[in-house]
Amino acid sequence: MNNNYYITRFAPSPTGALHLGNARTFLISWLRARSRGGSILMRMEDLDHPRVKREKIAQVYDDLKWLGLDWDGEVIVQSERAESYLAEFEKLRLLGKLYKCFCSRSDIQNAQSAPNLGDDLVYSNKCRPQNKTNVVISENSKGAWRFNIGDTSELIYQDNFMGEQKVDLNKSSGDFVICREENAGIMKISYQLACVIDDHYSGITEVIRADDLVNSTFRQIELYKALGYKIPEFLHLPLVVGEDGRRLAKRHGDSRISCLRRNKVSPKKILGWLGWSCGLCQKGVELELKDLLELFNLELIPRGKVVVGSSDLKYLGF
Ligand code: GLU
Repeated sequence: MNNNYYITRFAPSPTGALHLGNARTFLISWLRARSRGGSILMRMEDLDHPRVKREKIAQVYDDLKWLGLDWDGEVIVQSERAESYLAEFEKLRLLGKLYKCFCSRSDIQNAQSAPNLGDDLVYSNKCRPQNKTNVVISENSKGAWRFNIGDTSELIYQDNFMGEQKVDLNKSSGDFVICREENAGIMKISYQLACVIDDHYSGITEVIRADDLVNSTFRQIELYKALGYKIPEFLHLPLVVGEDGRRLAKRHGDSRISCLRRNKVSPKKILGWLGWSCGLCQKGVELELKDLLELFNLELIPRGKVVVGSSDLKYLGF
């Protein structure tokens, strides 16, 4: 990759407050961009309607700035980009890549023969048209528009942190939903499609995010190909988990950055802890962002999951 041309992004979902886990992913994204003299953009992923909490949006910006993490240019807000998404959706539909599915969640669950690889349900492709003549062209009723993965079998990509990744899309997702059509023709574009359109639109050269999204990456690569977009590079980082090995969440105690701020803990202390969790310094050191920038080396970041124990939360002042 050319050092003069590096663009990545922060893509928070305002479904909760910024916590130690996503702060670590954002810190690494920031260090990677700045250490290469590249850019880092901000995209607010506020499409997941029932879970989005509008009041969290300003808090996410504020918490990142408090840690010193800045970004370049205007923020992209997904809820303001419906027109662009629909135009690309239409492109895929006209290419014959989509079909409408009327199966309910329980139909899909019942038809699942093998355990799925991720959190998502694996679709049996039951509604997939057998030939192009029975593709639903316009159907004014509720349903899910699925992307036809065709006869794709094993897919491979090279992850910049995790190395070679392989999946059989038939086992990890099947034909996947890219838009839900609701009553009165309301179209709800999925994360998968919006993410690909925005990363392409922003000229992202490397997507950095947590490794719970590796399975999505394969689906997204298929969308890049279908839309004729250049595929960016991908770098997935291990999730931050609690002592029970499960993704850091409320059950592990309060690990929100806003809680630290309220407790008057300094950004240096948390940056030091995050730096230690990235293998960049000793435990217990307090550091500024500029120190971490000097120490940053992707090779030093431990490969395994990052465990936040109760002693860590206590040290940090939660
Ligand atoms: N908005 C997603 C999240 O907060 C990240 C999506 C992405 O980076 O592609 O988990």
